[in-house]
Amino acid sequence: MTATREQELSGRLADVRHRIEAAGAVSGRRPEDLTLVAVTKFFPAADVELLAGMGVTDVGESRDQEAGDKIGALPSDVRSRIRVHFVGQLQTNKAKRVARYTDVVQSVDRARLVRALAAGRAAAVEDEVVSGPLEVLLQVDLGEGEQAGRGGAAPAELGQLAEAVAGSEQLRLRGVMAIAPLDLDDDGVRRAFDRLHGLGEQLRHTHPDATWVSAGMSGDLEAAVAAGATHLRVGSAILGSRPAQR
Ligand SMILES: *Cc1c(COP(=O)(O)O)cnc(C)c1O
Repeated sequence: MTATREQELSGRLADVRHRIEAAGAVSGRRPEDLTLVAVTKFFPAADVELLAGMGVTDVGESRDQEAGDKIGALPSDVRSRIRVHFVGQLQTNKAKRVARYTDVVQSVDRARLVRALAAGRAAAVEDEVVSGPLEVLLQVDLGEGEQAGRGGAAPAELGQLAEAVAGSEQLRLRGVMAIAPLDLDDDGVRRAFDRLHGLGEQLRHTHPDATWVSAGMSGDLEAAVAAGATHLRVGSAILGSRPAQR
């Protein structure tokens, strides 16, 4: 008999939770300090609902049109039990909508986007669609020299961006996020994530609430845990492979 989608998801989710736990044990991290964000892009609202039923508390999306429709389709009791993170590159003209249906935007990389998200959140609060500030992570480009960066602000820009976020009543600065540069070996990935962790520490000198470090995906979550990540964004290892992306 073929496995149902529920069996498939619960088996893979258990595997990922074991990987996170094992990695945490190796580096002395407390399980409660490691949050799994299940990245459900390309997969339907029904999968989000199944995962929420299995205790997943945080869900990530990266494409606005799809994400808005999907989150809007969730039953309200499911929606109220999960925290929705936007993790993809975000165009300024999409920010207003994203600020209405997400709880966290992890991919903030420029001042214009900060302003657009703040305005969008203010409107959403005014319309009583949401009640509190939008939580924000600054995405950092960890590419160096020849390496291809994978989006994000240059490390030198973080201070100014942090000030812009902190100055917006409707935004709350929670930390930093990055995607490991392509084509690095395991040591290179670890060094990149160590660097991200250091940038987060630096940010906390002036913004003590910025305690989150979002790093690590299906292929490199162990390195992220070892480097001090607090949020792991895992897609394919839980949901299965996606169609090829742009
Ligand atoms: C898709 C995506 C992920 C999840 O990637 P997997 O390799 O499938 O785990 C994590 N972070 C971001 C920003 C993504 O776009």
